[in-house]
Amino acid sequence: MNFSYLSHLDCPQCGETYDANDIQQLCVCGSPLLVRYKLDRVKQELKREDLLSRKADLWRYHELLPVSDPLNVVTLGEGMTPLLELPKLAEDYGITTLLMKDESLVPSCSFKARGAAVGVSKAKELGVRKLAMPTNGNAGAAWALYAARAGIEATIVMPLDAPKITRSEVALAGARLYLVNGLISDAGKIVAQEVGQNGLYDASTLKEPYRIEGKKTMGIEIAEQLGWEMPDVILYPTGGGVGLIGIYKALQELQEIGWVEGKLPRLVAVQAEGCAPIVKAWEEKAERSEFWPNSTTAAFGINVPKALGDFLVLKAIYETEGAAVAVSDEEMSVEQEKVARLEGAFICPEGAAAFAAARKLALAGWITEGERVVVLNTGAGIKYPESVQVNPPLLEVGEFISPIEQGK
Ligand SMILES: *Cc1c(COP(=O)(O)O)cnc(C)c1O
Ligand SMILES: [Zn+2]
Repeated sequence: MNFSYLSHLDCPQCGETYDANDIQQLCVCGSPLLVRYKLDRVKQELKREDLLSRKADLWRYHELLPVSDPLNVVTLGEGMTPLLELPKLAEDYGITTLLMKDESLVPSCSFKARGAAVGVSKAKELGVRKLAMPTNGNAGAAWALYAARAGIEATIVMPLDAPKITRSEVALAGARLYLVNGLISDAGKIVAQEVGQNGLYDASTLKEPYRIEGKKTMGIEIAEQLGWEMPDVILYPTGGGVGLIGIYKALQELQEIGWVEGKLPRLVAVQAEGCAPIVKAWEEKAERSEFWPNSTTAAFGINVPKALGDFLVLKAIYETEGAAVAVSDEEMSVEQEKVARLEGAFICPEGAAAFAAARKLALAGWITEGERVVVLNTGAGIKYPESVQVNPPLLEVGEFISPIEQGK
């Protein structure tokens, strides 16, 4: 048995195939490339039960991951996050079963660690010494930390407004960090110039094929944690859309090797009203999105005005009869508080967007009685300290809580 059943790369736009043993970026046609495996052999040689004795991290699915030699695995223990029941919130929404896949509990406190773990491991296997990427913060933090562990030099460019903690993570890991007074799309232009000039490995979203593979493990885990049954709906806060593309790819691969059957869950892309290109495209039944001018939202991870893989996100939504929903920043912060008060979870603004969308879809009757719904909380709320404003009373030493306050 092989560690990986990697076969080759292919283009979802023009069908061209590529050798996965060489460094590949985009297809010549400009599309992202997808990783393909020898699934017929996986089907014959691997059983679901074989997983039971393995470690509770994402590398338990190594046959369906692209790293060929286990010595190239760069891990900080990522994966197998809780799939938590939220009964009080479920009742509040009028949803029969509501589950949170909680990605706050991975290294660097966002699900970006999954893409970084697999992306950096494969880069190491391919002999990459230097990589560069634009980021809204969390991806840069994760890639800088995993690159440090792999001994790869990282150059990271992020908007000035990106969450400050991610700057610290990147800098502490010893990466070259640059801020840009603009959006992630502007950071992307700077990286493209740097890549062209200095021959760096371009680790921008979907410009290397392996980040999707790390993120797809969220989909495999959800299936395994539900005893290889499918939920009815999965909601995902969508920026570049890699998580959604990955979850869809994972579920299709699991179908192909016969580990799950029946109808796939309806996939829901959730965006912010201030940056909703996928929602607009879905409403217009379009195949691709258009650049969203002057995008703005406090949910920084989903501030992506134009995603390279938009057509793959939209395809996943159409093919699963899913939906795309926009929520306001106000709705996000209301929901963030609600989740903390009812269930004790301090979720990130992006995760709060997905919860707000679940509430809307239940209210609209799109989610129906008896359905099982999974919401991705993509990161920890504590990475965004400025998302919550508090003003507690300050007591001087010797001063005590007044009876009026106590009675509150
Ligand atoms: C990056 C990010 C997202 C969006 O993920 P994509 O896979 O790019 O759509 C959502 N939430 C958080 C916290 C993120 O950092
Ligand atoms: Zn192509």
